[in-house]
Amino acid sequence: MQQLGILGGMSWESTSSYYRLLNQGVRERLGGLHSAPLLLHSVDFAQIAALQKQGDWDTAGHVLAESARRLEGAGAAALLLATNTMHKVAPAIEAAVDIPLLHIGDAVGQALQQRGVKRAALLGTRFTMLEDFYRQRLAERFSIEVLIPPQDQIEEIDRVIFAELCQGRFESSSRDYYLQCVAQLHARGAEVAILGCTEIGLLLENTPAALALLDSTELHVEMGLNWMLAGVDT
Ligand code: GLU
Repeated sequence: MQQLGILGGMSWESTSSYYRLLNQGVRERLGGLHSAPLLLHSVDFAQIAALQKQGDWDTAGHVLAESARRLEGAGAAALLLATNTMHKVAPAIEAAVDIPLLHIGDAVGQALQQRGVKRAALLGTRFTMLEDFYRQRLAERFSIEVLIPPQDQIEEIDRVIFAELCQGRFESSSRDYYLQCVAQLHARGAEVAILGCTEIGLLLENTPAALALLDSTELHVEMGLNWMLAGVDT
């Protein structure tokens, strides 16, 4: 198996899902005592979130590029950046290392394409929902039209991510709110909803919704597993 490096801690709530799902995936595919060869560099999310708020993406990019270099130096053969939002600085990370960054947008785009989806709802942080770096990749590489909620819902969805989910709080009122937003996007023509924030799956897991929910964490892990196990007999 190839060793994967995880850029984590954004937040650690979802990084722990990556760790569990990668190991579960290796166990399912190889059986017995097999587990995932991983390196993790976990940052202090308060620092990253402050840089996001200030709009200082250059510094955030430097911080993550440095983490990526350390993982490469320690022997990682590819990287998983365990957050959707910070893929905004994916180019800075890619420029800092010689190993591939397995892009979460490609994991999501490929899954949508395989399901024949043309129009998808997107839930995530306000950066992910409003800015180009994620939606444009889905549109240009995978011909997906992305629908996002109205501004007041974007603000509330974003607030819940930082004030609750990234702090380990999973409230039923927030679950209901997210489901309402998803139902409205379904009524506007979305065929599926992308859970484009790595903590949302923790809030909505095993919850029936108006339409299929595609969890970016699970899809990203699947991409990592395929890469890690390419060439291994399973
Ligand atoms: N984990 C989240 C994401 O997937 C939000 C935290 C962050 O801003 O990185 O976007």
